[in-house]
Amino acid sequence: MQKNSDKHVAREFLLRQGRQLLAIAIAVFLVLLMAVLYKRHDLTGTFSDSALVTAQLVVITAFIGFTAFNWRCPKCKKYLGPNISSRVCRHCRTRLR
Ligand SMILES: [Zn+2]
Repeated sequence: MQKNSDKHVAREFLLRQGRQLLAIAIAVFLVLLMAVLYKRHDLTGTFSDSALVTAQLVVITAFIGFTAFNWRCPKCKKYLGPNISSRVCRHCRTRLR
């Protein structure tokens, strides 16, 4: 049987993982959308190339910032690394799920 703090860590990790997956989906969608808009000027007469490039950089920067804030171990608060489905924290070895 799991201890209460273990359940809390697992629940918090699931929340963070859900937010992270959502952020990845949104960031990929926006970057791809802007890449299409960049190629198809007939769709976007009003946006300049530099505006689209700037918007992509803003999306990527926001995604990196969000990841740095969100993608942390619920227990030791250290960055979890690139593996979205990791089972243990590589810093404190806490079981995440
Ligand atoms: Zn940890």
